[in-house]
Amino acid sequence: MPAETSLTVSLDAVRRRLRAAAHRVNRQADEITLVAVSKTHPAATVATAAAAGQRDFGENRVQEGLAKIEALRGTGLTWHLIGPVQTNKARKAAAMFDWIQTVDRLELLHKLDAAAADAGRALAVLIQVDLARESTKHGAAIATVRALVDAALSARAVRLRGLMLIPPLPETPEASRPWFRRLRDLRDALVADGTPADALRELSMGMSQDFEVAVEEGATIVRVGAAIFGERPQP
Ligand SMILES: *Cc1c(COP(=O)(O)O)cnc(C)c1O
Repeated sequence: MPAETSLTVSLDAVRRRLRAAAHRVNRQADEITLVAVSKTHPAATVATAAAAGQRDFGENRVQEGLAKIEALRGTGLTWHLIGPVQTNKARKAAAMFDWIQTVDRLELLHKLDAAAADAGRALAVLIQVDLARESTKHGAAIATVRALVDAALSARAVRLRGLMLIPPLPETPEASRPWFRRLRDLRDALVADGTPADALRELSMGMSQDFEVAVEEGATIVRVGAAIFGERPQP
């Protein structure tokens, strides 16, 4: 099968699975954004997915993402940064990406806000939460999420849209369910505590292995790479 055909087929399959998961819990599939994670894949592959109707793409490295954004300028795609942002790359990231899903510290938030304001653009952000307190992972501890939320709400150009989670690598899709529930509970607690619901509408959780479970638990954004583009070579 030509690469283009197989990409279209797997994209359709993921969309079907997403719809089925949404219907199992009486949700509308169109309230869930599928972010196709194109890291390691060339701009030409992104263009093929775009031709098949995919609009949202995710990249985990700033430099790699910027190159693809440049290459596909003017095609109206929406780009999400889903990997850690070094403070010295915040300015470039804020000028080019549409969403930064990995805000996990005040310093980064302030840098992104200043850069987006200078660039004259609104920048959608998610706060990445580290629920498992894994020392190897990025993400804000629960205790610091409130301060990040408050800072984001008083930002100039940053628009807080919700929370993002990368749970511990699951043995089975079901193993992720308690983590997804905890992120949703944290969001609900913040809203009950006075955070405007609009600012925390999005829950970005679920990857190739467990996106259906995430949808059942309230994900509004799922980040799917391998199930769409095929397995990536191991680093
Ligand atoms: C790579 C990546 C994904 C996609 O992972 P797959 O297993 O390929 O679906 C999702 N989220 C983040 C943060 C990633 O780095």
